[in-house]
This record gives sequence, C-alpha cells and structure tokens, in this order.
Amino acid sequence: MIGTHSAGGAHRAPYPVPFLCAPTLCLAALLLLLPGCQWFTEPPMHKPDPHSYSNPHETRVDSLHLSLKVDFDTHTLSGTADWFPVAGHASKLILDTYGLDIHSVAGDGESLPFQLGAHDALLGQSLEISLLRPTKRVRIHYSTRQGARALQWLDASQTEGKKHPYLFTQSQAILARSWIPCMDSPGQRFRYTAEVEVPPGLLALMSAENPTETRADGRYTFRMNQPVPAYLMALAVGNLEFRSLGERTGVYAEPAMLDRAVHEFADMEQMLATTESLYGPYVWGRYDVLVLPPSFPFGGMENPRLTFATPTIITGDRSLVSLIAHELAHSWSGNLVTNATWDDFWLNEGFTVYVEMRIMEALYGPDYAAMLSAIAHADVSEEVKSLTASGKEGKTRLAANTAGEDPDDGVGPIAYDKGYHFLLLIEQTIGRPRWDAFLKAYFADHSFNSMHTEGFLARLDSLLSETEERRIGVQEWVYGTGLPMNCPPPNSGRFVAVDSALSRWRAGDSSALPAQLSDWSTHEWVYFLRQLNGRDSLSATFLDSRYGFTGTRNAEIGCVWYQWVIRSVPELSTSRALNSAVDDYVSQIGRRKFILPIYKALKESGQAERAVDFYKRARTNYHSLARHSVDALLGWPNP
Ligand SMILES: [Zn+2]
Repeated sequence: MIGTHSAGGAHRAPYPVPFLCAPTLCLAALLLLLPGCQWFTEPPMHKPDPHSYSNPHETRVDSLHLSLKVDFDTHTLSGTADWFPVAGHASKLILDTYGLDIHSVAGDGESLPFQLGAHDALLGQSLEISLLRPTKRVRIHYSTRQGARALQWLDASQTEGKKHPYLFTQSQAILARSWIPCMDSPGQRFRYTAEVEVPPGLLALMSAENPTETRADGRYTFRMNQPVPAYLMALAVGNLEFRSLGERTGVYAEPAMLDRAVHEFADMEQMLATTESLYGPYVWGRYDVLVLPPSFPFGGMENPRLTFATPTIITGDRSLVSLIAHELAHSWSGNLVTNATWDDFWLNEGFTVYVEMRIMEALYGPDYAAMLSAIAHADVSEEVKSLTASGKEGKTRLAANTAGEDPDDGVGPIAYDKGYHFLLLIEQTIGRPRWDAFLKAYFADHSFNSMHTEGFLARLDSLLSETEERRIGVQEWVYGTGLPMNCPPPNSGRFVAVDSALSRWRAGDSSALPAQLSDWSTHEWVYFLRQLNGRDSLSATFLDSRYGFTGTRNAEIGCVWYQWVIRSVPELSTSRALNSAVDDYVSQIGRRKFILPIYKALKESGQAERAVDFYKRARTNYHSLARHSVDALLGWPNP
C-alpha cells in the first residue's frame, strides 16, 4: 500500500503538523509513544475546511439528484436538489449557498424548518436544515438569482455561431454553492444524477455521462456514478455538436468551431493511452472536451468526463495541446486524489503540471517538454520575485494558509510550478523507476479520496531515505518561502537556440531569425518575445511586419507581444492598429491569464484611463471570476 522504499524500521522525526485538528494530534502523539512503530501513513480523516459552513463530520449525504430548468430569459436555474441518504448523529444538515432563493425544504415529503445564515461576501450563507427525525432524503426547492457567480449567460451575439444563447458554469473553487445548495468543500464527495430542461434545439452537457445528440424536447438526463467533490459540478448549454476522436474520446463544440477543434485535438486518444501507461487505468469511462466560447475565464477546467476548454488553444498547429494534457492529468491528480482543502491546492496542481510534462514528453519528446518546463521555471521565478517585492513572501509557500481569503487567488505559479519543480526534484533525486512506482501506488491507494499536505508528506516519508530527504530539503520546499537553491534549473536546447538567434539578430544579422512565424512553435515565440528589452523597441515595426504579431489569432503570442509594446514601444502602442487590436483582444477573450496582464501593463505604464476605456466595453463578456480580478486591479466602482 505504501511506497517501495522502507525507512528500515527506525522511527524518524515527524514533520510539523501545523494544520492538524486536535484529535489527530492526539493520535499522532500516541503513535509516537509506541515502541518501534512506523510513522503513520494514512492521513487523518477530517480536516476542517475554512471555506465551508457544512457539517460533514456530523451529518453525511452521499448522493444528489438535481432537477433543474434553465431559463435564458431570466438568466436563472430553478428546481430541486435532493440529498440522500442522510446519515449521522446530528439533528441538522448544514449546506453552503451563495445568493440562492430557497423556497422550501422537505424531509421524506414532510416540510422541514430551515434557516439561512448571515451573508458573507466570500462564503455566502449557510443553509441550516433541522432534521426532526431520522430522514432518508432532503429535498430543497430553490432558484438561482441573476448574477449567480458560477454561471455565465451569453447572448447569441457572444457565441461563435451568433444564433443561440449559451450557458456555462465554473464551480471551482467555491462557486458551486451559487447554483447548487451543497457541501461545497473539496474534501466532500458525492455521486449525482440530474434532469435538466433547456430550450428546444440546445444541447445540455454535464460532468457526467453525456448525450451526443440534441433532443427536440430539450429534456436531458445525466448520471455520474463516481463520487466527485462539488467544485467538479458542471453544466453547459448551447448549440453544440459532438464528434468522436477515438474509442473513448471526443469533442463537443459549436458547429462553426467543430472542424478546427477536431484537427487540434487529434492526439487525444493517444494522450489518454499514454497517461494510462504511466499512472494506471483511466477510471472515468469517456474523456471528452467541450470547447467553450472565448469568454471562459480559464484555460481549461477538469470537469470529470468532460473537460471545459478555452478556444484560445485552437491555433491550427496543435502547439497548445499541453493544456489538454494538463486537464487529462487531473483525471488522476485532483479528480481521483483531491486536495482536502484549498490550503492543499498545490497537491492538485503541482502534481498535475508534473503529469502534464510527462505526457508531453512521452508524446512529443524530451526537447518539447523541456520548453514547457523552462516556461514553468520562468513563471515561478517571476512570481516569487514579484510576491517578495510586494511584501507577500508568505504567499510563496506550497502549504498555503487561505482562511479568510478567496481560494481562487491561489491559482498561480506557486501551486502549479513551484509544486511541479518540487516533484521534479524528487524524481531527479531518486530516479524515475522508484518515483513512478510511488506515484502509481499513490493514485491507486487514495482513489476517490482527499489528501492534505501532511498526509502526502507522511507517505513521502515512507519513500525517501533520510539522506534523500535532506538532499531534497522537503521541509523547506513545502513550508519555506521562495524558490529553494536546489530547484532544478531550466534546460531547454530549443530555447538556447532562440537565445543564440536573438543575440545574432541584435548584432545585425536579421537572417538569424526565422523567415516566417510557423518556423518556430508558439513556445519559442513566447520565449523570444519575453526576452525583448527596451533597446529592441527600435525593431518593433520590423518584427511586426515580418511576423504579423499585431492582430494575431494566437492568443499566447498576442498576450506577450501586446504587453511588451504597451510597456516598451510607446509609438507603436498608441497607433490606431495596435489600439484596435488590443481592444478586440480584451473584448473577445475572457481568459484571465491573458487579459489581466494586458490591463496591468496599461495601468503600470501610466495608461490606466485607456485600460478603463477597454474594460468598459469588455466587462459584460467576462465571467465573474475574471471580472473580480480586473475590478480589483483597476479599482472598478461597485464591483
Ligand atoms: Zn490544473
């Protein structure tokens, strides 16, 4: 059940356990007293979640049945949520809600008293239901309100096809409660079924077994047989079509986008098989991808069986499919073994970036993966520098402390790329065979369970010898700030070639650069553009005319190019062509990773008014998560 390497029976000093609840500390203390005993390898059962009002330690619910009607006129969902069976010793069931109208609550058909707690801007309201007697099923009649935070309603004009409206959800981190009354904690899992009614002609999809054809009556049923945490609840409704890519994989998209998506994701079936060969069977049945409209706030969301993906990865040259590898990797790290609380988020994302890199290496070779790894290194180095400079060094710890804060703020290079480099260092220290065996067993042993940092460290302790542990500096990596000195350095031959082309070009040899854009991958261009400095600004017009960066359809390249021009090339930055390209860019794309740095570049280069001018037009196209971040950056009134 645990890793291959034993500590040899000797008892070793335990890790600090700063977040363990009191009963666990007692258990740990007891184990320490037992002669010759091994450090425990199972995580404690319960760790309080500072982002949920729910009471799973008192009252459990294992399954959900949703019955919802989707109303595009009022932008609301309404219907019932049935939770069952209700088990435990408490006389109340407490769920999380955010802005829901609760119409009535019944237990086994009989009306039950309930109370909504005070509204908290971050956590919403608790819904406390009194259980008068043993109850098998609790039914909640409810509806969402306009502006529900997880839901994004798009008019027909905001879609690719321009004919039908569109709805999609984004529940991570704590937004599921804004469309389902639930125990909204990553440590709590449940199975679900659903009936969803939508306007005729539209297809509804969930993170579940999905239909592939539109039904004339607009009624769909769904089933998710494996238990999932609430942040993986997902729904999308639109004019969508399905195309199979392989035996277990396929893609859903608006008809106008489908051919391009099928071309881009051609390797998906092979990607699935590759990941299985590394980390064990894929247990979710199908793996499909839904291509969303451009306003989706993230690159992708790993909703089980159905990844939600941004269309900004469809570049025509398959150069950004690492995002699909990332979301697929979540089928093991995250969806199968889940962070117990948002403080442990790095366990989801650090592992996922690591697995993503391994998939990319297996499919496209070490040279290719080394570019992705070097970009991750640059991202985390920059983030550490910027957090440290702004006095937020504490935010560079892997083991986070997010109580009282929005866990969504933890989505960034620390959890992802510092986490990845820690795992890469372990791999490099102990060798792949041992590390791979450990990971495979880790995923298998903790399937459909949650894991917190201390639980993982206890397990890691059983793998590593004391010398290895010291060499890696496990404690410093997890609880320390910054990037430890032994962080594996970037090592990309293809980027070294870009560096050399850049120096030759700077020395006057313009033939050192590629003749055309397609001669380099997106990653090489991103790396190249990131190296440009103030001196290079004299050549901005040359670069733009040779490669057509302004107005590019490649959002990754556009993002870096526009930032550089805004910050370093004032003549070009204020040109009509660039102004309209940036305006189009931020109003058509809602992916936070792309739009936020553009607004930031404008603000920091003394063009805050221009940023606000763009934002005024673009804001309605953004999901609440993206709005939240840009509002804060620009000091938007009444967010
Ligand atoms: Zn991820």
